[in-house]
Amino acid sequence: ARPIVAIVGRPNVGKSTVFNRIIGDRLAIVEDKPGITRDRIYGVGEWMGTSFSVIDTGGIEIDGQDQMLRSIRMQAELAIEEADAIVFMVDAKAGMTGSDTEVAQILYRAQKPVILAVNKVDNLKRQDDIYEFYSLGFGDPIGISGAHGIGIGDLLEAVAQKL
Ligand code: GDP
Ligand code: MG
Repeated sequence: ARPIVAIVGRPNVGKSTVFNRIIGDRLAIVEDKPGITRDRIYGVGEWMGTSFSVIDTGGIEIDGQDQMLRSIRMQAELAIEEADAIVFMVDAKAGMTGSDTEVAQILYRAQKPVILAVNKVDNLKRQDDIYEFYSLGFGDPIGISGAHGIGIGDLLEAVAQKL
């Protein structure tokens, strides 16, 4: 079976945009678990001959989960359970938020590699905005732009090294 890479982060950081960049048209159909809708959020990614399954955890719908924070936590916990490596995504435009810290708290407990991706680094000027995220404690942040397709190769390279 392919290794599993989960993309985790608060809403609106660009998880689905980057997920679509990574999988292209390699969307996979999976069956939903009782109480959890996971349809349309699995795909296949490839980097230098290594293929892996990708999960956009933001698309996971959990029955009865209406509060955002509870939902983010559940998604992060599911990712820790299922994934071999986790891409923790944050947003350079918005900067660090309390929800990012919440996600980090959960990921500290993961006995899995975590790669920190700072999305929305659309131009060189914004590259400086990645540094504040060092304080999350997941090592070197990788600046990417899902919208413009910048840094996706660097991210996949870092992920592939951890698989
Ligand atoms: P998700 O909630 O984490 O899945 O985030 P989405 O992929 O739905 O993106 C949220 C918003 O951010 C959308 O309006 C996207 O167009 C925008 N977005 C995603 N990636 C980028 C990026 O690299 N740069 C910029 N400027 N906007 C982005
Ligand atoms: Mg999404």
